[in-house]
Amino acid sequence: MSIRSTAAVWAGKFTTKILKLVGSGGTSLPGKVVLKMCPDILGHLAKDMKIICVTGTNGKTTTCHVIRDMIETNGDTVFCNDAGANLLNGVVSAFVNAATLSGKIDKDYALLECDEAALKSIVQHFGELDVTAVVTNIFRDQLDRYGEVLTTVNKIRAGLEQLPNVKLVLNADCSLTTSLNDLPHSEIFYYGVNGPLYEGTSSDISDAVYCIHCKTKYQYEYRTFGHLGGFYCEKCGYKRQNTQVGLTKVIQWKDASSVVEMDVFGNSVEAEVCLPGGYNLYNALAATTIAKLIGLSEDKIVSVLGGLTTHFGRMEQVQLGDGMLNLVLVKNPAGFNEVIQFLIQQKPTGNIVFGLNDNYADGKDISWIYDVEFERLTEHAVGAKHFYFTGKRAYDMQLRLKYADFDTEKFSVEKDYKTLITQLQQSGEQTFLVLSYTCMLEFRDKLAEFVPLKKYES
Ligand SMILES: [Zn+2]
Repeated sequence: MSIRSTAAVWAGKFTTKILKLVGSGGTSLPGKVVLKMCPDILGHLAKDMKIICVTGTNGKTTTCHVIRDMIETNGDTVFCNDAGANLLNGVVSAFVNAATLSGKIDKDYALLECDEAALKSIVQHFGELDVTAVVTNIFRDQLDRYGEVLTTVNKIRAGLEQLPNVKLVLNADCSLTTSLNDLPHSEIFYYGVNGPLYEGTSSDISDAVYCIHCKTKYQYEYRTFGHLGGFYCEKCGYKRQNTQVGLTKVIQWKDASSVVEMDVFGNSVEAEVCLPGGYNLYNALAATTIAKLIGLSEDKIVSVLGGLTTHFGRMEQVQLGDGMLNLVLVKNPAGFNEVIQFLIQQKPTGNIVFGLNDNYADGKDISWIYDVEFERLTEHAVGAKHFYFTGKRAYDMQLRLKYADFDTEKFSVEKDYKTLITQLQQSGEQTFLVLSYTCMLEFRDKLAEFVPLKKYES
């Protein structure tokens, strides 16, 4: 460590301390201070470490969570950036927190959740290091954030180009993600679902209809979610690649888990994956691929997957009076459609709350809710007692469900979170809350006045 980089670490730690003293949970300021003093600080701090980056549109946080468990089960040590603090400043802050005052980090792995657009700035000083990068999937995010999906592909590509020795772990079912395989890297590992996940899944909306190489419409042997599945292009031959870790069969769907059969580098493995919903199986497969690469045995992989506890937000359960609240975060059409599929399996009989804000972090343009397939849920939600709408754009959400033919007699708009929570408490019913990002933050703030809650980690 140079004097300059050591001083930067001190400054970062000092800033973090001050922020804690004044009760601010900000994670980006320390990083900003450090970078100002030493722009290539990550290169200094990451020296001699093994790095795992997880990027992609959906599933980053959950995938990191499972990978972390895999690494620790392997007897190795790891530090991560906070979920959500996935831009350069947040990553730098995480490194500074993990470092001693002399600028050494006594951990085996840095596990980094990286925003797609920030990937390049994060990895640019990791060039010669042992880096493994997972790309979970690429979907269109909120309309007004990164624009077209191809822009996202190119941003991830620009990041990976900085890493001549990177090992790539790619979602084979995503044609956009798989297109990164033309980067000049020697080692690529694929994971995916080797057949349809659900009976009769048909998804009309697609973020990748046409071949990324020749613009011909893709054909599909099967689909799982959105544009994910067994794609192939008749014209140029571009197609889904064979997987090193593939889900071969879902043996049983349960409420908050599923029992599956996987092919893991040629070995058939049966495991219970203790995460709710089919979409989380992709995250489990990505983490399983990493687990094999770091040398974890199949037995231990199975024990990690079977011992996962649901982590914040993706599906947080909170007991409120006699009823259970199930809170789910939604960020984009693809993620929302996964939640719809989950609700179809659940056949809700209590309340469903839809919360939508249009702040920057939610997406200013809310027309993306018209890409969510609420119509598929309509008949499976007839047993629900009540549909609540909340958040700044509650009325827009209500209108969307009216178009989807939900029973309007059961509709209520309730923008006051306190009143809403009181009503949910009085109902004593199981409630699913599907909330956009800032709506989730606001709702949880108010909910914390009713029941003790864990710190929100995203
Ligand atoms: Zn083609």
